Amino acid sequence: MTSPLILWFRRDLRLDDLPMLTAALATGRPLIPVFILDPETEALGAAAKWRLGLGVAHFAERLAAAGSRLILRRGPAREVLAALVAETGAAGVMWSRLYDPAAKARDAAVKSWLKAEGRLGESHPGHLLFEPWTVETGQGGFYRVFTPYWRAVRGRDVAAPVPAPARLPAPEGWPASDRIEDWRMGAAMRRGAAVVAGHIRVGAEAALARMEAFLAGPVARYDAARDLPAEDGTSRLSENLTYGEIGIRRVWHAGMAAHLRGSAGAETFLKELAWREFAYHLMHHTPQILDRNWKAEWDSFPWAGEGPQVEAWRRGMTGEPFVDAAMREMYVTGTMHNRGRMIVASYLTKHLMTHWKLGLDWFADCLTDWDPAANAMGWQWAAGSGPDAAPYFRIFNPATQVEKFDPKGLYRRRFIAEMSRAPGAEAMAFFAAVPLSWGLDPGRGYPGRIVDLAEGRARALAAYAGRGGGE
Ligand code: FAD
Repeated sequence: MTSPLILWFRRDLRLDDLPMLTAALATGRPLIPVFILDPETEALGAAAKWRLGLGVAHFAERLAAAGSRLILRRGPAREVLAALVAETGAAGVMWSRLYDPAAKARDAAVKSWLKAEGRLGESHPGHLLFEPWTVETGQGGFYRVFTPYWRAVRGRDVAAPVPAPARLPAPEGWPASDRIEDWRMGAAMRRGAAVVAGHIRVGAEAALARMEAFLAGPVARYDAARDLPAEDGTSRLSENLTYGEIGIRRVWHAGMAAHLRGSAGAETFLKELAWREFAYHLMHHTPQILDRNWKAEWDSFPWAGEGPQVEAWRRGMTGEPFVDAAMREMYVTGTMHNRGRMIVASYLTKHLMTHWKLGLDWFADCLTDWDPAANAMGWQWAAGSGPDAAPYFRIFNPATQVEKFDPKGLYRRRFIAEMSRAPGAEAMAFFAAVPLSWGLDPGRGYPGRIVDLAEGRARALAAYAGRGGGE
């Protein structure tokens, strides 16, 4: 029998719209799907790691239904793959590309080792619509500003998604696999898991259903509703996109079909998908976006570090309703509405003048839809230190924002128990999700503001002026 190929799955937990699988099937070889809990994956934040574990377990079932298996192994990727190649006599390994610096370094090392061994090592697209090196400005560089980027990509051809095969060719014998339960990928979620579990949608089938439901109705109102956190007005596909449970090309084509049907809002939706691309392209070209001020002149800004105010922000106890509702939404649902993300990030970096990195790290620990590129771009955008960022002097006022985007107080009451005489289940669930060590109790009443908005704003602007005020 021909020697098998190893399919190394990472953030592409699906069988359709997957160029790596199409290429692998074309070889005619038996396929051995593998997922590796490597140090890069071990380092994920609590919520993302827990959610990924559920996605992997679900994907293993999907593969079993297609006559295949998902082999689970733990350890550094190259060592694990070397062992698997030795055990199975595999001809090589295929995978879908990722673009964060840690993944790129790991994958490059795997590829050169395979090459040195004389085996096949192939990386394929699949996580993005456009490979980062294929979108260039007229001068040949990468785009730093979204609007011209969008003009450059919106009319591009995107290959049609390929359907999932009914079956995957299996090898004669299967290598041994770990049991996912033994990995305890949810350990760091503690009490939060039981609460957030009610809000996640795991797997390709759930992702597809969500996309179809969104594009059949809510997308028509997306332009207005996407800014209203109390409404179910967005696709909520970020959770599935980040683990590759739905292919971005499938979403793009479905969004384009809705646009061509004349569905108002569909073009804005496509534009949001392009924001995701833009974030990835920036991360590919300027990986420092993940942990350093993208604009180096921000290094001299007197950012504050850890302290009681940051802790109050983390705990949804700032006394600022929009900020607290959004932070609590994150502990209850695992995600946060985009408007909430902008508000809490602006509040932390401006009213509290705290370094954006603290916020970025906290989101990485708490979001089930954590995405390295979108999170970094979002935080640096809010802080003013990033490419195409909101200017630092344009400071969101969370009090006026909440009146504008939550005029009836539905979002606030949904997540802040202390604001209702009869709090709903989600407001109460916050207290069941957060660590007991925070000592929170709805009976104690809602806290007063930890910072006066006018004073916080004035302090931030003075600091900004003090560093010269230039962008
Ligand atoms: P929809 O409105 O339905 O949009 C469809 C898809 O487009 C999203 O699923 C997402 O893939 C993409 N998208 C939409 N808005 C953005 C954006 N501003 N930037 C990049 N991609 C976008 N998104 C994440 O997926 N993971 C993160 O960790 C993350 N962290 C963020 C942190 C901050 C401070 C900010 C301001 C934004 C962050 N975002 C992040 C972007 C955005 O908030 C979410 O993508 C969006 O709220 C997800 O909800 P949705 O799927 O319903 O989006």
